[in-house]
Amino acid sequence: MMRKWNLRELLFKHDEYNIVGHVRADGDCVGSQLALHNVLKASNIKCNIIKNDNYGTVLSAFFRGYPVMDGENFNEKLPLICVDCSDFKRTGPKIFEKYSKPYLNLDHHISNDNFAQHNIVDANSSSTAQLIAESLIRENISFDKATAEALYLGIMTDTNRFAYSTAIDTIKVVETLMGKGISISEIHRSVYERNSLAKYRLLERFLHNISVFGDGNYCTSFITENDLRETQCEPLDTEGFVNYTRQIDGVKVGAFLEFHDSYLKCSLRSKNSTSRMDLFAKQFGGGGHPAAAGFTVDAAGENFYNNFKFALIEHVKNLPGEKS
Ligand code: 5GP
Ligand code: MN
Repeated sequence: MMRKWNLRELLFKHDEYNIVGHVRADGDCVGSQLALHNVLKASNIKCNIIKNDNYGTVLSAFFRGYPVMDGENFNEKLPLICVDCSDFKRTGPKIFEKYSKPYLNLDHHISNDNFAQHNIVDANSSSTAQLIAESLIRENISFDKATAEALYLGIMTDTNRFAYSTAIDTIKVVETLMGKGISISEIHRSVYERNSLAKYRLLERFLHNISVFGDGNYCTSFITENDLRETQCEPLDTEGFVNYTRQIDGVKVGAFLEFHDSYLKCSLRSKNSTSRMDLFAKQFGGGGHPAAAGFTVDAAGENFYNNFKFALIEHVKNLPGEKS
């Protein structure tokens, strides 16, 4: 497919940038930020990574040696690059309240609302990292091994280790990244084999709370802020939990809710992209992809969980082609 944008033209226009990903960072937003930082640095362009949230133990390790700036103290006059953010609010209040319009929006969410001055958005891309990697390769922008590692981190995590429907384009990009000398097993270990025992204690509670309903088509679970406190976990320790809900035989749609004291976070996953999790999330002000989406709302009342389960069944029933 012919891509219409020119990343080189947009990237090499200014001599200093701020760059940010979304709150509740994941491998894709981290890898994309680090890759762009490296590419810019190689051309003597300064790129400040703005810390908008807690990165957690696993992802923090990837930032070692990079110029990460406190989200309270940064020069808001500099052009801002946003990566992996479906809307500007996903950058978090520290950022979006200070900028009226970001310079560049690089993303792959179907729900992206083109919030920046320049928008490079491709919902066919597995990850923002793939979109960046393909642009670098196509436009002959040179990049090194560390950049290839960062891009692989993004692709590996957003494809759930290539388990989601993976296009040949993704594999071709990985082939080029491997040509730079990266070790895929090392990157895999650095993300998936650094679990804490505390995370397993939280997982016990999550599994305990799992329920399947609606003729076995739906599976949900939850944890509370109290569970996090008692197991001494942080919110990022729940990474990957939602997959257990979808992975049950017969389940079409899975959801995981985190009931925090001041907010509620929901992760949604479906086996098929026809279930349009992005549209369901949109009902609650969220977004994402057809088979993986989420939303965050203010602290919810006691009835939320039951009402939510009902709304999920209604959403799937009302999809085109679904029998009511
Ligand atoms: P996760 O469930 O892993 O947090 O997120 C899955 C997908 O849903 C990601 O692509 C993410 O961007 C999107 N998503 C998760 N939470 C939110 C949210 O609060 N708002 C929006 N707009 N998207 C979200
Ligand atoms: Mn992503």
